[in-house]
Amino acid sequence: MKLILLGAPGAGKGTQADILCEKLDIPTISTGNILRAAVKNGTPTGLKAKAFMDAGQLVPDEVIIGIITERLAEPDCAGGYILDGVPRTIAQAEALEKAGVVFDSVVSIEISDETIMERMSGRRVCPDCGASYHVVAVPPKAEGVCDKCGGNLIQRKDDAPETVKSRLEVYHKETEPLKAFYAQRGVLKTVENQSTVEATSQAILSVLGR
Ligand code: AMP
Repeated sequence: MKLILLGAPGAGKGTQADILCEKLDIPTISTGNILRAAVKNGTPTGLKAKAFMDAGQLVPDEVIIGIITERLAEPDCAGGYILDGVPRTIAQAEALEKAGVVFDSVVSIEISDETIMERMSGRRVCPDCGASYHVVAVPPKAEGVCDKCGGNLIQRKDDAPETVKSRLEVYHKETEPLKAFYAQRGVLKTVENQSTVEATSQAILSVLGR
């Protein structure tokens, strides 16, 4: 199964991708996680991406297209994958299409900007493995410590309220048009954000017919 999770920043794509990845036994590819690792390691891609990320702006399409085509060519992607946070522009979606990638389903998680603004202040991430938590909704077993790798959880710089506002503007302008793009191709499915992570997962699995 080739799947895209669409949704505003903070809609819960990463959390849902983690759950689906286990249930469907296919890898999750998150360009945000790949870029954060590149920034941390000071690679040329990381150096190019950092200023855009800190400002809540999109990293240029050519950088993302390079990252994603390379990643999808790796052997673990042969049986399908879940894309989290990519494509984020029509140009990225067209590049994937041109590369012959056809998606079975594109699930858009619908959530209001107000709920996102409230939610983002509680998000914590692991800088070592990329796992995502929320102090109330998805707390780690031990406060401040990653369940998966023991890393020290941090708040992302781009989760500051002003940056979240810019990221939401970018989402509405650049990414939301992807809904119409994939609706035209007959693969768009929309799911309303539910009051718990589990209920949203159930709603996603149900539109996927699982
Ligand atoms: P995310 O973790 O998906 O919210 O991504 C964090 C940041 O990485 C974004 O705000 C962008 O600056 C950058 N980024 C991640 N994925 C993409 C993408 N597909 N296109 C452009 N920029 C991206």
